[in-house]
Amino acid sequence: MENEAVSRNFIEQIIDKDLQEGKYEKICTRFPPEPNGYLHIGHAKSILLNYGLAQQYHGQFNMRFDDTNPTKEKVEFVESIKADIQWLGADWGDHLYFASDYFDRMYEAAVELIKKGKAYVCDLSAEQIREYRGTLTEPGKESPYRNRSVEENLALFEAMKNGEVEDGAKVLRAKIDMASPNMNMRDPVIYRVAHMHHHRTGDKWCIYPMYDFAHPLEDAFEGVTHSICTLEFEDHRPLYDWVVREVGFEHPPKQIEFAKLYLTNVVTGKRYIKKLVEEGIVDGWDDPRLVSIAALRRRGFTPESIKMFVELCGVSKANSSVDYAMLEYCIREDLKLKKPRMMAILDPVKLVIDNYPSDDVEYLEAANNMENEALGSRQIPFGKELYIEREDFMVEPPRKYKRLFVGTEVRLMNAYFVTCTGYEADENGVVHTVHCTYDPATKGGNAPDGRKVKGTIHWVSAAKAVPVEVRLYENIIDEAKGVYNEDGSLNLNPNSLTVLKNCYVEPALAEAKPYDSFQFVRNGFFCADSHDSKEGAPVFNRIVSLKSSFKLPKA
Ligand code: ATP
Ligand code: MG
Repeated sequence: MENEAVSRNFIEQIIDKDLQEGKYEKICTRFPPEPNGYLHIGHAKSILLNYGLAQQYHGQFNMRFDDTNPTKEKVEFVESIKADIQWLGADWGDHLYFASDYFDRMYEAAVELIKKGKAYVCDLSAEQIREYRGTLTEPGKESPYRNRSVEENLALFEAMKNGEVEDGAKVLRAKIDMASPNMNMRDPVIYRVAHMHHHRTGDKWCIYPMYDFAHPLEDAFEGVTHSICTLEFEDHRPLYDWVVREVGFEHPPKQIEFAKLYLTNVVTGKRYIKKLVEEGIVDGWDDPRLVSIAALRRRGFTPESIKMFVELCGVSKANSSVDYAMLEYCIREDLKLKKPRMMAILDPVKLVIDNYPSDDVEYLEAANNMENEALGSRQIPFGKELYIEREDFMVEPPRKYKRLFVGTEVRLMNAYFVTCTGYEADENGVVHTVHCTYDPATKGGNAPDGRKVKGTIHWVSAAKAVPVEVRLYENIIDEAKGVYNEDGSLNLNPNSLTVLKNCYVEPALAEAKPYDSFQFVRNGFFCADSHDSKEGAPVFNRIVSLKSSFKLPKA
């Protein structure tokens, strides 16, 4: 396998052992979402884990929609989930499945269980079933219907299937052990009557299998070998094993649980996100402040950065929460050598070069990425009037200030040295224009006499720059106070979105297409928004700033 020196995670160790013992010839994993919402960063972990294992062991990866619950499912979600998984690069090839395609086989499996005396039709109400179930400290009571004959059970189950039974009047239950210390084993319901329309099977069925019965069967039908799920299903494993054993599969799949991925102070719950969307607090499920896969993509994250993040998180059995800063670290790492470093002014002040000889534009050459020559160079327009960042000039600078103030010389990136000679402010003292002179001998950014400057600032040509809208983001949650208020509502950060309408970018950036991303010198990494960018008028989302306090955890 890839790198023997790297220690194997616990799932790889299980698979190694199974293969050594010849339990399976080839491994098969799957990702089984319920099509009832958008996928988020946690799902990405599960997708990349399952897909990655299949790749690593030259096995198979199945994409399966777990669509056994017609109440909550929507076709819309099937399409968005497929798009997200494709974007992440998890290629299922021909192995796209729908659990609903197995309804016939699931029904037959249930009939087999009845014939073996391992399942019975029960007339207790949902309420009574709950009462009879007992508690963690007390055993349950057997249902009075538990000892119906096989013939009677077969006839009743068929009646359920044929629509002769009302919703909730009867269920099919596995006959296991009402005294089991594991509550899941106390004769769990495996089929219910529900006269509901299904998005794929229409009105063919009015009985639907329960998750704990359906899921192991789906895995087994597909020849899944390692069924990886999250920790909350640990207590369901005995039932999973019971189902595949009693239904009689030759090479039954094995369930393995791992800890969910949680991000500190980040909302992933469908219920909360739905509310944010419905109340118009965010701009849809892919609002760049959210961590749905669609939102991360719109913000400008790449599949590579998400993969790096998931790998850094590792796979474990212990629940923990990871800082969003780690995700930011990964996108910076991914983009820093891949993307051109361009100039954009987010808070403009005009800089006038009083001794610049003409109103013409001259073109200067700039490397696209000083750390990656392969990205080549570009020509940028320069002239008498420029825009610089407001924070790059100060009337009364503090002692260590290295940028422009009257009397200092600084470098204009990729251009010339300029010396500040004065400024103009409005009646409130707000500076709008800074004056300077330039030294034509310093073209390219170096003085022939070898003199140095302390600061380098970026700029754009006032004549040629393109005005654009830029959006800056902060966490949608007020981190200082935590995710939830006392009443359970979300603790929103009023500053999570800042829209800057008066930004200027170098002309090449006007051509940016949705999802194109760039480094804006000193301001961070930005991505052209896929909803609001227009031809020639991109809107830029800040993916992440350049500064970070994040340190990679020690391996
Ligand atoms: P629901 O509450 O609707 O069940 P869900 O997030 O569990 O939501 P599923 O469609 O059931 O959604 O999940 C698909 C797969 O993704 C499951 O195998 C589940 O274990 C896994 N998964 C869900 N959330 C996370 C997470 N935070 N980290 C890792 N894996 C996750
Ligand atoms: Mg689930």
